[in-house]
Amino acid sequence: MAVYDAVIVGSGLGGLATALILAKEGMRVIVLEKNRQPGGALQIFSRDKAIIDTGVHYLGSLGKGEVLERYFSYFNIYDKLKLEKLDDSGFDRVLLPSGEYPYAQGFHQYAETLSTYFPKEKDGLKKYVHALEEVIGHFPVYRVEPGLVNPVENKWMQVTAKDWIAGFVNDPILRQVLAGTHMLYEGNPESTPAYVHAMTVASYIKSAWRMVDGGGQLAKYLVDEIKKHGGEFRNYTEVAGLRGKNGEITTAITRQGEEFEGKKFIFNIHPFLMLDMFPEGMVRKGYASRIKTLPNSLGTFTAHCIMKPGQFAYRRHNVYGFTQPDVWNASQYTTNDWPRSFAAFFSRRADSSFTECANLMTLMRFEEVEPWSKSFRTYPHFSDSRGEDYEEWKAQKIEKILNLANECMPGFKDSVQSVYASTPLSYRDYIGSPEGSMYGIRKDARSPYASVFSPRTKISNVFMTGQNLNLHGIVGVTISSVITAGEILGNEYLLNKIRSSG
Ligand SMILES: Cc1cc2nc3c(=O)[nH]c(=O)nc-3n(C[C@H](O)[C@H](O)[C@H](O)COP(=O)(O)OP(=O)(O)OC[C@H]3O[C@@H](n4cnc5c(N)ncnc54)[C@H](O)[C@@H]3O)c2cc1C
Repeated sequence: MAVYDAVIVGSGLGGLATALILAKEGMRVIVLEKNRQPGGALQIFSRDKAIIDTGVHYLGSLGKGEVLERYFSYFNIYDKLKLEKLDDSGFDRVLLPSGEYPYAQGFHQYAETLSTYFPKEKDGLKKYVHALEEVIGHFPVYRVEPGLVNPVENKWMQVTAKDWIAGFVNDPILRQVLAGTHMLYEGNPESTPAYVHAMTVASYIKSAWRMVDGGGQLAKYLVDEIKKHGGEFRNYTEVAGLRGKNGEITTAITRQGEEFEGKKFIFNIHPFLMLDMFPEGMVRKGYASRIKTLPNSLGTFTAHCIMKPGQFAYRRHNVYGFTQPDVWNASQYTTNDWPRSFAAFFSRRADSSFTECANLMTLMRFEEVEPWSKSFRTYPHFSDSRGEDYEEWKAQKIEKILNLANECMPGFKDSVQSVYASTPLSYRDYIGSPEGSMYGIRKDARSPYASVFSPRTKISNVFMTGQNLNLHGIVGVTISSVITAGEILGNEYLLNKIRSSG
């Protein structure tokens, strides 16, 4: 049996990018994925001939010289991606009961644009964008430079995003506007650390892009590159257990009983799932049970709306709408006032001036889908339906979110041809995250070190990569993959190599 240099479990962006970096260095790698499609949250599906994104709607920092462009160029995929730049003067628009507020691209322009709505806050806004730049500049791998940040030096980990924003501006509405896209990181007023807000928002303010024909292309090109460098990708291959010897893991065992031997194992799956696979006695029970008490970020209910041809004008921006002035209480909805917020992402076919698909995304707690939690809808546990009551429940939810979208975007509802919904159960089944959590373990400013993982685990030849490390999102996960690969190859060696390749 072949012994791989690295066996990577899970083909989310983090798994694929880590595998590619190692394969480029001559390591023999194999990526094992439980689903048919690679990519995890990058997966797409098609309905009524429209391509629908599941977990990536837009990307930040893909302009020349920016962080993602530099890493994707090193991966040799940047030139292949079909990208559309979002509206420079307002790529995100926050809709509050008090009005609509655009986020412009470019730090200077961002502050200038919002100053026209809040003239007294011009200085505060300048300081705010300067601070955003300071935060991203603090992380060497974000600057594509060697080095790692000691968590103790990350002062933005210990203050909440809500308090941090309030330190720059006084206007209560502007404070809400600056946090208005917190669906991107499932913002929580008590726990979300400032660096999660700053790094996420800053990456888009630098430049914001949509992937034409969906995010699946990113996974496809990464798999192509892995294979080009001698690596392997196996779909329909769910890792169900591990075997170890002398304190190290030696073998990954799949649900079907197939075995893959490796010198190193890299987990791109949720830490809870990884811990369940460790052979008895290889890690202390206290370590595993401490991690398992960490709360996850919430899941989402998304209505994927296929629009009638030629009816709803295409928008080169995203919309974040709120029913209440306090954006931070969106997740504390009750069944009666759900949804308190939504985000809308639009896509079109070629250069059509009309929207083909609009994804309406909102937060949802797992308790809502608990009654159907015993049903599974993905390989290998296919059951045809979760039941008629589930379909009825989904239809009621769709109606509510369409009504809210229509209030914010008049004419929207009449332009919808058909709707397909994803719930926290869909994300649980297709990505494997517990309770359908969108972004994995919630980073928490109150217990900063407990919720941030190192790529190293308690087992010396086992590593982690992906959104549960430093940061989620395409920028965050790409950086995590570089950090994980750097842990194996040497951070300085790898970063210097990436720098000199550009
Ligand atoms: C609804 C939603 C919208 C989002 N929108 C955006 C956005 O617009 N922009 C942005 O930048 N980010 C967005 N994100 C976040 C971003 O998509 C994720 O942070 C990122 O893709 C996660 O990548 P990952 O490498 O951690 O792996 P994941 O995507 O979590 O993939 C994990 C993979 O592991 C596989 N797996 C699980 N268990 C096993 C097993 N036992 N054996 C084998 N394989 C297994 C899964 O099938 C999956 O393919 C969004 C996320 C969600 C959920």
